[in-house]
Amino acid sequence: MHAASIPPPDAVTAPWWNATRERRLLIQSCAACGRDQHPPRSLCNHCGSTEHLSWGDATGAGTVDSFTVVHQAPRPGADVPYVIARVRLDVGVVLLTRLEGRQPDDWSIGDTVRVEWAPSDDGRALPVFVHAAGT
Ligand code: ZN
Repeated sequence: MHAASIPPPDAVTAPWWNATRERRLLIQSCAACGRDQHPPRSLCNHCGSTEHLSWGDATGAGTVDSFTVVHQAPRPGADVPYVIARVRLDVGVVLLTRLEGRQPDDWSIGDTVRVEWAPSDDGRALPVFVHAAGT
């Protein structure tokens, strides 16, 4: 698997992208209200704080919240079908991501998953999710 194109980092997302070089999944936390959020932002979604945001490592374990099988290639050369999903991490935040490693029809809502990394040419990587073995 390979991430064909991923967005450039900006001032807010650079720490998050840099962690993907080490295959670490960071989640932004707010010390002011104690909530986590994703994707990274310059202010807290919950209380609006801009000064109390910090980064923590997520385990990469989660469950499938919802998913869609994409049958029509969004651009020439894209491999279809593939699965776009909302994955709820154990820490509570939701990632919009891809499910890999199974036939699209084999997935169900509530499946347990763990993170894998789809490398890009510049050393960064995109988190994708595979079925968690033994569950
Ligand atoms: Zn907050």
